[in-house]
Amino acid sequence: MTEDYPRTLLELERRFSDEPLCRAYLFALRWPQGFVCPVCGAGGLAIRRDLWRCIQCGRETSVMAGTIFQDTNLPLTVWFRAMWQVTSQKNGVSALGLQRVLGLGNYKTAWTLLHKLRRAMVRPGRDRLNGVVEVDETYWGAEESGVHGRQTVAKALIIVAAQADGGGIGRIRLKHIADTDRSTLHGFIGQAIEPGSTVVTDGLQAYREMEGYIHDRQVQKRQPADAEHLLPRVHRVIALLKRWLLGTHQGAIAHEYLQDYLDEFTFRFNRRKSASRGKLFYRLAQQAVDVSPVPFDSLVHHKL
Ligand SMILES: [Zn+2]
Repeated sequence: MTEDYPRTLLELERRFSDEPLCRAYLFALRWPQGFVCPVCGAGGLAIRRDLWRCIQCGRETSVMAGTIFQDTNLPLTVWFRAMWQVTSQKNGVSALGLQRVLGLGNYKTAWTLLHKLRRAMVRPGRDRLNGVVEVDETYWGAEESGVHGRQTVAKALIIVAAQADGGGIGRIRLKHIADTDRSTLHGFIGQAIEPGSTVVTDGLQAYREMEGYIHDRQVQKRQPADAEHLLPRVHRVIALLKRWLLGTHQGAIAHEYLQDYLDEFTFRFNRRKSASRGKLFYRLAQQAVDVSPVPFDSLVHHKL
């Protein structure tokens, strides 16, 4: 399917004015060559509106089954407007902002909707970074809240990978991690970066003995502030991330949801040079029908 998406809010409102129009769009994204059974891969027949039966195994499937839209109580017209709000604005939208603009009855509905969309934003392991990639960790939480000392809120640890694109930054990957153990750091690198790439880190011991990569270890010789010069790309990304978390979301993020915010930041950052905002809408809708359903329970029990 050629990339087909609305360019403006008016176009979105006109095109996706009812449920069948939204479903037809999702169908074309999910099954561009026609219905494919998610169980056995065979074709199928429409048995009634939005329900297909596999000609081989008999399984009945709707376009929303197995996607983030499964079991939703909200109309797709609302989902489509939410996807537009998230993708059309440079910094996205907070749950409160979304509740207001869509006229949703309560905050939790807006909050859940945003988190489900965030789960569709990054697909780990699908397209790993390559070439020269800087990797470093940062803390989120204590210093930003303006509280210092031992008895402060626990800090969250985030690992950042930033691909070099000439002197600038290409794509990025971010992950909320539990510790800086060797297995944690190496696990992230394996998930985020193609083997054979050059990985640039600071002198932290736990990064050593990296298998399958060229390790460019930048050992700090002078001040801790040197890290910003040795790994300029990751530090630029960290500064932008913190500004976004503090700005759009006022820093009010519980640790168990931090990964969702990191995914949203990554989604937008990696498409920041996209000429059209509608293209981000298209990508999000496409990924939304290409992920597993997210029951509310898995949103609130997010594990590291
Ligand atoms: Zn089948």
